[in-house]
Amino acid sequence: MVNALGGIGDGAPIGVPESATRVDFRAAFLARDLLLLTLDALRYDVAADALAAGHTPNLAALLRRGWEARHTPGTFTLPAHEAFFAGFFPTPPTPGPHPRPIALRFPGSRTIGRDTLLLDGPCLIGAYARAGYHTICIGGTGFFDPGSPLGAILPARFHEAHWSQAMGVTSRRASATQMTLAAARLAALPPGKRALLFLNAAATHPPTRLFLRGARTESVATQAAALADLDRHLPVLLDALRARGGAVGIVCGDHGTCFGEDGYVGHRVAHPLVWTVPYAEVEVAP
Ligand SMILES: [Zn+2]
Repeated sequence: MVNALGGIGDGAPIGVPESATRVDFRAAFLARDLLLLTLDALRYDVAADALAAGHTPNLAALLRRGWEARHTPGTFTLPAHEAFFAGFFPTPPTPGPHPRPIALRFPGSRTIGRDTLLLDGPCLIGAYARAGYHTICIGGTGFFDPGSPLGAILPARFHEAHWSQAMGVTSRRASATQMTLAAARLAALPPGKRALLFLNAAATHPPTRLFLRGARTESVATQAAALADLDRHLPVLLDALRARGGAVGIVCGDHGTCFGEDGYVGHRVAHPLVWTVPYAEVEVAP
């Protein structure tokens, strides 16, 4: 159910105070690895309900205060990630301005605060690279498949980019494959070399009915099953980050998706179930 303020639930406010989950990205810059993990098409209500039900115990351990409900800057993968890579991650759905955790220098921005990690350049990935980070892209959805010129745009921002059918949206083993590869690429780096690890998780993007035995259509239940599978494989990635001294990061949906609510199916439309996404700033302790 979507309430009048764009919240999801029985009319109750959504999310937790943004101050509850702040991570100091300035202090971590050049000292820790950076994790950017996007859970593609994952709806806020699916993520929050799975967390509350105990179906995502590894995410529960990572998220210090649970999921925040935020509004995404894009209704599908390409614009959402273009905005993320420009420093515009999902924003709190309350009157702002809301200072951003990481930003690129941009005259006139009202959301660069005292605690914002401020970098120069047209893209966060390049800005971290120029600071000495090795940047890794573990692709999932089609906008990270360099097999087409359009799909090559986002991966080209990184020092190394990986994609295969086994990591894509039609793979039952997408999360296992992606997490294992991410861990291997991190382990291959010299210990003193900082890494920016971006992973676009494909499992939560339709078709998610692969993950629920007997399911023939897409639903909240099938996306929840895909998320639970992702959660089971998450420790491989987190252990690799711990072995390198820990990390800070952002974990979020890039947009949600509709399963027939109000007659809508899919995304690329500004429906509350599409623009409301789960968000968390995280620290992976060494
Ligand atoms: Zn997406």
